[in-house]
Amino acid sequence: MWDRLYASAFEKVINRLGNIGRVLLAYNTNIDAIKYLNSRDLEERVNRAGKEEVLRYSEELPEKIMSVQQLLGSILWSVKLGKAAELFVESCSTRFYMKLWGWDELRMGGQVGIMANLLGGVYGIPVIAHVPQISRLQAGLFKDGPIYVPKIENGQLRLVHPKEFNADEESCIHFIYEFPRGFTVFDFEAPRENRFIGSADDYNPNLFIRTEFRKNFDEIAKNVDLAIVSGLQALTKDNYREPFETIRGHLEVLNDRNVPAHLEFAFTPDETVRKAILDFLGNFWSVGLNEVELASIMEVIGEKRLAEKLLANDPVDPIAVTEAMLKLAERAGVKRIHFHTYGYYLALTDYKGEFVRDALLFAALAAAAKAKLGDVHSMDDIVKAMKVPVNERAKPVEEALAKEYGMEKGLAEVDDYQLAFVPTKIVEKPKSTVGIGDTISSSAFVGEFALKMG
Ligand code: ADP
Repeated sequence: MWDRLYASAFEKVINRLGNIGRVLLAYNTNIDAIKYLNSRDLEERVNRAGKEEVLRYSEELPEKIMSVQQLLGSILWSVKLGKAAELFVESCSTRFYMKLWGWDELRMGGQVGIMANLLGGVYGIPVIAHVPQISRLQAGLFKDGPIYVPKIENGQLRLVHPKEFNADEESCIHFIYEFPRGFTVFDFEAPRENRFIGSADDYNPNLFIRTEFRKNFDEIAKNVDLAIVSGLQALTKDNYREPFETIRGHLEVLNDRNVPAHLEFAFTPDETVRKAILDFLGNFWSVGLNEVELASIMEVIGEKRLAEKLLANDPVDPIAVTEAMLKLAERAGVKRIHFHTYGYYLALTDYKGEFVRDALLFAALAAAAKAKLGDVHSMDDIVKAMKVPVNERAKPVEEALAKEYGMEKGLAEVDDYQLAFVPTKIVEKPKSTVGIGDTISSSAFVGEFALKMG
């Protein structure tokens, strides 16, 4: 049954993607510079910087990086524990050191950048992107296609491709130092593969919003049918108020114009900010999240037992997920919640129709293509993902939903909501899993509207 549903959903969605006007994407875009660590090189660097001091920093992560010794020590910390970490690099001389050290690969980073390349560069949907800083390096990472950034010329707002923006702004670079399992440096051996990220980026962590978007938002919003917001996750209790006010204003404009806005919720470590996002969620039409993020929201609304249940099983217990989504929908007042986890997706909506499920199926194909290839280049890549088998481990999940809610063909009614379910396609040996969540959420959101508008 699912193979048939997959095939028909894909046909329907691709024929209707052209129905979508413009999609606004705000706010975070950066450059990911990936460096695959080499033991000899790293050891030499540590020795040159002063081994004793560096090793001291490998004991405990600093709050931010203010010297080369701290940078190298933090990388060693990551290797030693096999843990990921991300720290802000404050010192200019350390940023310069990282630049000279270089990278093996540059990739588009930030949810806006990733979604712009997918929606504009692959689906051919016109997008207007907020790019905090447009350097030549950053602009070069955008695919060709209907991707636009606002530019003010002689007091007039124009939309141009980032490559035609032609301003030499700063580069917001997230340096990603990757190591495989078993990577050894001095006496340390990595228990598993992971990465340390040093962010040389003064813009995205503070949710810097460009003048064009602060001054001309009315005009920008005139041109859009849908909006996807992301990038709130790095804010802290000390810096969230100002950007939140600006975003509140933007959402008012969008809501006045009946432009549905989706929030891509990413893990937000700061509890004050997480609570503030929750209080703010009613301004959005829709929200997208995974199990860790849903659990983190249950934590702050005092549903600790439910939060634990969400993280207890593999695959994640779909009844616990549904209960959590119902609580979130009631509390926040969003119309649509899209949950994704390894193996299946669920969408809880206060409206009904097969198109919600079909959009999830389309998203699962895009996710499989992304997992398989690392980057989706064309619609053809997504067509080929049809061959990836449907996840067998989602069977018990489907059975549990059928038993509890009488679900049929991935659809059920729960309270006054519709619950849509799809088992996903799982790629055995994924090339990369970075940015799959963004691929899933944005594909399902635009897919749903493409079907609705058609
Ligand atoms: P990220 O923030 O890195 O995008 P998320 O947890 O938000 O991470 O999204 C990851 C999602 O990608 C999972 O929920 C799962 O649905 C999907 N996924 C992960 N690995 C695979 C795979 N091998 N094949 C297909 N989908 C995958």
